[in-house]
Amino acid sequence: MSGRFAPTPTSDLHIGNLRTALVAWLMARSTSRDFLIRIEDLDGPRMKDADQITCNQLRDLTDLGLTHDGPILRQQDRSLVYEQALSRLEPLIYECYCSRKDILEASTAPHGTLPRYPGTCRNLSTHERTALRRERPPALRINASSTVVGVTDLLHGHHSDEVDDFVVRRADGVFSYTFAVVVDDGLQFVDQVVRGDDLLESAPRQAWLATQLGFTPPEYLHVPLVYSGDGTRMAKRDKAVSLGRLRKKGISTQVILNHLAQSLNLATEDESVGLDQLVDRFDPVVLPKEPWLVDPMTWA
Ligand code: GLU
Repeated sequence: MSGRFAPTPTSDLHIGNLRTALVAWLMARSTSRDFLIRIEDLDGPRMKDADQITCNQLRDLTDLGLTHDGPILRQQDRSLVYEQALSRLEPLIYECYCSRKDILEASTAPHGTLPRYPGTCRNLSTHERTALRRERPPALRINASSTVVGVTDLLHGHHSDEVDDFVVRRADGVFSYTFAVVVDDGLQFVDQVVRGDDLLESAPRQAWLATQLGFTPPEYLHVPLVYSGDGTRMAKRDKAVSLGRLRKKGISTQVILNHLAQSLNLATEDESVGLDQLVDRFDPVVLPKEPWLVDPMTWA
């Protein structure tokens, strides 16, 4: 059984991403699991510099010492695998012709931050579908019957939500992140999912989909994100603090590892720690539940 880290190659990893990767690695290694790396580049051909960014991301993970097992999967190579998985769900799949705008207008009672699909195309007649097909290509959605699904997160506890009919394949033919991630985790025997807590709200629909595909949902640990000192989420546009930038400033990987470990309550201030020590002392219950506040000025 395995844990994994699954970056999307949209930008270099910032220290928040590296911190999440470190937790994922520590969770896997401290429980004697394999640790897999998967590149979530479904949109790869349309992404700017995806290959270069992937190389940078892998270099940073290696620099930090986060060893991995087995080959690195790239989602853009796996369309056939997703096609096969989709065919197993055939009876639940339907064509959806709604635009994003249609959905927003029709959602009368949105809750949470995930947009909810109101079911507009769930029961189209053959006649209606034939007419709509002439106008635009459809996305594919899965009928989840508004099932309420609960997951237990090792850090955040119980989280449940109603699963709406989400998109499994977009109108441009690209499989959705939610679909691909669940298929890949299932087929790669991933039973431990550690990632940023912006994805906690996606966990119920992913756990539901895993069950539909005959997989056992994994255990989850959603790591709080890093925020810049001014309270905004660290992202590329904020000149996010990347390992490359820190290296240019002469900050060593060891110093960065120490900071990450301290921010996770795994090291005391001024302590220098190695990965082996961290594996020995790792315990998810000590991890902070609040976002990590980082002042980019003190780092770069
Ligand atoms: N690819 C996603 C990201 O980079 C992570 C998905 C996951 O870990 O499930 O945010």
